Amino acid sequence: MSNEPRRPVRPATAMVHGGTMRSGFGETSEALFLTQGFVYPSAEAAEARFKGEAPGFIYSRYGNPTTRMFEERMMALEGAEDARATASGMAAITAALQCQVKAGDHIVSSRALFGSCRYVVETVLGRAGVASTFVDGRDLSAWEAAIRPETRVFFMETPTNPTLEVIDIAAVARLAKGCGATLVVDNVFATPMQQKPLELGADVVVYSATKHIDGQGRCLGGVILSSSEWIEKTLQDFFRHTGPSLSPFNAWTLLKGLETLPLRVAHQTASAARLADSLAADARISRVLYPGRSDHPDAAVIARQMSGGSTLIAFELAGGKKAAFRLSNALQVVKISNNLGDAKSLVTHPATTTHKNLTPEARAELGISDGLLRLSVGLEDVDDLIEDFAEALTAV
Ligand SMILES: *Cc1c(COP(=O)(O)O)cnc(C)c1O
Repeated sequence: MSNEPRRPVRPATAMVHGGTMRSGFGETSEALFLTQGFVYPSAEAAEARFKGEAPGFIYSRYGNPTTRMFEERMMALEGAEDARATASGMAAITAALQCQVKAGDHIVSSRALFGSCRYVVETVLGRAGVASTFVDGRDLSAWEAAIRPETRVFFMETPTNPTLEVIDIAAVARLAKGCGATLVVDNVFATPMQQKPLELGADVVVYSATKHIDGQGRCLGGVILSSSEWIEKTLQDFFRHTGPSLSPFNAWTLLKGLETLPLRVAHQTASAARLADSLAADARISRVLYPGRSDHPDAAVIARQMSGGSTLIAFELAGGKKAAFRLSNALQVVKISNNLGDAKSLVTHPATTTHKNLTPEARAELGISDGLLRLSVGLEDVDDLIEDFAEALTAV
């Protein structure tokens, strides 16, 4: 069924053709196999498939042709041997962590985490008897000091949400290898276009495909990528029996999203770079954190491990919450939302939304002040975005 190009191709080509499986009709666009199950030509064929002696799908909770096309296209982009697609980014992260720990084990995690990830590590796994230590991800000695004999997993997100700190993946991967822990990297903010954690030594990469991979604000999804051995031995049974699987319909939407991912991320990153510079030049803005700027505190690590800037910008208004609200409310093109990675530019006030559950001290530790805004740059004409901010800043 498969007719992928035989020559190795570049990412933009792989995102249009990678993983495509054509049915007997020879359809151009990937088919949507909206089916729960599959029928077998004989009882013997069913037996062989269940024994794993014959290829083929069994049940869509285990795998589905449309979902598999999405997984294979992601594998081509990430350089991973295998993948499993999930119903959301959180389903991916929960499965990737929970499948490999038991009561008594220990996880070391960077402290700047997407709120739900922190809940999974601290509360869900904590209740199951898995201990955790949160460290400043940029402090290598803190990772090292947190290691215990029972440490099984290292977990990080980089760049972090919302302050866009960048953690040295290769250095943390060396520490993980040294103590026999598996390094899991949430690569959502970098997108697969700008950072390749597996090449830097990570063992497992997870995405919320809801973000840039869909990129047009339509459906939730996630994906876990790793070696064939890890997927088969560590994830597979957990995945099949707990059922975080992605719907084939959403997989189809995400497949179409991947066709334009390289174009969108390149465009959005170029726009973000220009916008970051124009925001940095405004006196009402006290600080701009943008991974593409030379004044980013982690510029040296960024130069080593990321291939572009980012589609996200964090910036702080000198006038605190009042100024941040005034600016958000005065924007006309940019919308207020907690989401990111969309075609539409979205602005978020983390202190009162995504990070409102943290104590003021915890927010301060993460650099989330009341004047901080996070901006996800979309596909609009950048000059309209620059004008939108210039005008809205006069309201501050
Ligand atoms: C959005 C997000 C998630 C969760 O993904 P969902 O698809 O919303 O479940 C996890 N990590 C990061 C960094 C995210 O931005």
